[in-house]
Amino acid sequence: MSYVDEVIDLVVKQNPGEPEFHQAVKEVLESLRPVIDQNEEQYRKDALLERLVNPERQIKFRVPWVDDNGQVQVNTGYRVQFNSAIGPYKGGLRFHPSVYIGIIKFLGFEQIFKNSLTGLPIGGGKGGSDFDPKGKSDREVMAFCQSFMTELCKYIGADTDVPAGDIGVGGREVGYMYGQYKRIRGLSEGVLTGKGLSFGGSLARTEATGYGVLYFANAMLKANGETLEGKTAIVSGAGNVAIYAIEKAFQLGAKPVTCSDSTGWIYDPEGIDVELLKEIKEVKRERLTAYAEARPSAEYHEGKGVWTIKGDVAFPCATQNELDIDDAKALVENGVIAVVEGANMPTTLDATNYLIDNDVLFAPGKASNAGGVATSALEMSQNSQRLSWTFEEVDSKLQGIMENIFANVDRAAKEYGFDKNYVVGANIAGFEKVVDAMNAQGIV
Ligand code: NDP
Repeated sequence: MSYVDEVIDLVVKQNPGEPEFHQAVKEVLESLRPVIDQNEEQYRKDALLERLVNPERQIKFRVPWVDDNGQVQVNTGYRVQFNSAIGPYKGGLRFHPSVYIGIIKFLGFEQIFKNSLTGLPIGGGKGGSDFDPKGKSDREVMAFCQSFMTELCKYIGADTDVPAGDIGVGGREVGYMYGQYKRIRGLSEGVLTGKGLSFGGSLARTEATGYGVLYFANAMLKANGETLEGKTAIVSGAGNVAIYAIEKAFQLGAKPVTCSDSTGWIYDPEGIDVELLKEIKEVKRERLTAYAEARPSAEYHEGKGVWTIKGDVAFPCATQNELDIDDAKALVENGVIAVVEGANMPTTLDATNYLIDNDVLFAPGKASNAGGVATSALEMSQNSQRLSWTFEEVDSKLQGIMENIFANVDRAAKEYGFDKNYVVGANIAGFEKVVDAMNAQGIV
């Protein structure tokens, strides 16, 4: 049995009931076969893959808090510190009822390669809780965040582990957690990113993931003789990533006509009104039905369905496994030329393979959505320098980073004979640097 298959089997056996983690490991290791097969003997002797798929540390903790009725609630908190070969652990916190250790491990594993791809000195980690901020009062969210950080603060720090936001964790939650960290540890340091601008946040961090997705898409299309100009974009999600992907898509000459949330989706043939979407999702925290009510050109549909709409470029920006094989078939039938992932692992493995086999340009999230974490690393740099850069400075660095990521991914794909397969390219390019750093630091 090949080393790759052995390790995949081992992961499934040692991590039962964690299908998302199995899926992530399988996808990464399968696409690394060309590199691993070339070095199989050495890697096996060094147990390189066993070390790579085992988190350096995982922390699970109780998060008790009191709701507005005086009732004590108990949630579970997680932080997986996956790999610090390149730098301090870096990766978001997700607050969503679906969170369990398998989701955090899948995200943390992917994060290692994504962070490596940014070219910046950050290792991989991820955390979160099964707490659902939806429908909670500000006071309840604060009570939860303070309790969560009371425990987490023992394990993080500006030079050890620097969490950020993810699903369910935005500026409000980061602010409450930062306040509690500072109160307990007495340190004003860059321990969290995605902070408010008045206390060490970076300009353009809010926009970074969505903008970065579009910079990556632009570079990929350009390298393939195409452009975003005049293209129709199909976007899913209505959160941080989706909103700023939509905004930048307009700026680059495309017309995004869809968005979605966990209950339904919008088709707006005149183009999504991004200011209205921001008002509904960022300010009022309402459902998308409010968008359709305010905008006569828009249709609202219950459930899922954005991938049935005809368009040129698709941007899945909501959550994992939201684009399956049937969706991929519908996209191909509708003549889509590229799928660029904004979310983490939104496309199932068979859907990814179907798209690639049908000559659709496919950008994996670990490359195309790396702009968020890259800008978080820029926030860390600014905090260390005790300086704030301008929006333009950060945005132009972000654009450079995304173009560089595409160039690296493209180079690695070509070098190993997988021209235009950016999944293989991203995994190889990310892996090369991590392996180099792990080898240099000995068996630790
Ligand atoms: P948000 O919480 O801001 O938005 C998530 C969006 O997806 C919301 O519209 C939400 O709907 C929808 N959604 C969440 N879960 C589901 C579900 N199970 N089914 C359908 N829709 C769902 O998160 P972000 O925009 O920050 O993150 C989106 C994705 O991008 C995630 O995969 C995240 O890991 C990834 N990502 C985020 C980065 C960032 O900087 N924010 C960086 C890199 C990756 P509703 O409004 O109803 O909750």
